[in-house]
Amino acid sequence: MLGKADLHTHTIASDGAYTPEELLEKAFEKKLKIISITDHDTIKGYLKGKEKAKELGIELIPGVEVTAVWNKREVHILTYCFDEDDQEFRRMLLNQKKSRVKRMERIVKKLQSKGLDITMDEVRAEAGPGNIGRPHAASVLINKGYVASVAEAFIRYLSTDKLGHIKTMYVSVEELVKIAKKAGGVLSLAHPGPLYTQSEIDELMALGLDGLECIHPSHNFNLQRSFSKIAERDNLLITGGSDFHGKGKKDYDPYFGIVTVGDQHVMSLKRMARRRRELTRMNN
Ligand code: AMP
Ligand code: ZN
Ligand code: FE
Ligand code: FE
Repeated sequence: MLGKADLHTHTIASDGAYTPEELLEKAFEKKLKIISITDHDTIKGYLKGKEKAKELGIELIPGVEVTAVWNKREVHILTYCFDEDDQEFRRMLLNQKKSRVKRMERIVKKLQSKGLDITMDEVRAEAGPGNIGRPHAASVLINKGYVASVAEAFIRYLSTDKLGHIKTMYVSVEELVKIAKKAGGVLSLAHPGPLYTQSEIDELMALGLDGLECIHPSHNFNLQRSFSKIAERDNLLITGGSDFHGKGKKDYDPYFGIVTVGDQHVMSLKRMARRRRELTRMNN
């Protein structure tokens, strides 16, 4: 037995509060044996965490939470076990990083047009070296006293409902599936719970996703069970994790070390990734 796994966490490489090293220390304290650092559209946190993970005896699964476009919506897709040196995959992530900046420029303009005093430089400063995202804009709004919390910032200004459609250059789900699989990656639809109808999930899966994130703090017991049943019925991988950020999504943070996935699911994930790599090798 390998032990408990958390396949969904964030660091300062995106919108998390902790460095990869700090996150892994915390994982160690929580007795987690397997971790995936799944920052938004970057693997910098994962790469930085490797050494620390080795030192602590934690298995670090290559991971990233990619924002992809589907039907004019932004869909979060967890991608695991990819070849981190795959050039096309790296290029895709670089594009995602640029798309984030462009999108944030549009978001800032929209907020300014609503009369808010906020600049791109201020949001950049909040993001620091990490991939920029709405939680960083939320921090600016908090600092300026417009809102009292990240949750309020989303409710009042930053939700898709409030922002309206923001045009982005994010990768499409179809394109992501192609690039990730070529890099040997395995894909799982992140936190489907509150976001999609059953037929939407079926449509997304038909695009070539391998698994469903059945276990997530936003899923109550019934949702977790119904997603797991779908996964079993359709031969999909079951993935899960706490979506720990250490800030921002504070409502999820208490679940770090608690919302976990059993190692049998990690074994299945790794088995699928292994097979995919063998296939890629055979085709080349
Ligand atoms: P972005 O990467 O710019 O699309 O922002 C998405 C991130 O914002 C999510 O991964 C969460 O960390 C955070 N977020 C989204 N919705 C909310 C919310 N209602 N309250 C707090 N944080 C949120
Ligand atoms: Zn996030
Ligand atoms: Fe997400
Ligand atoms: Fe996440």
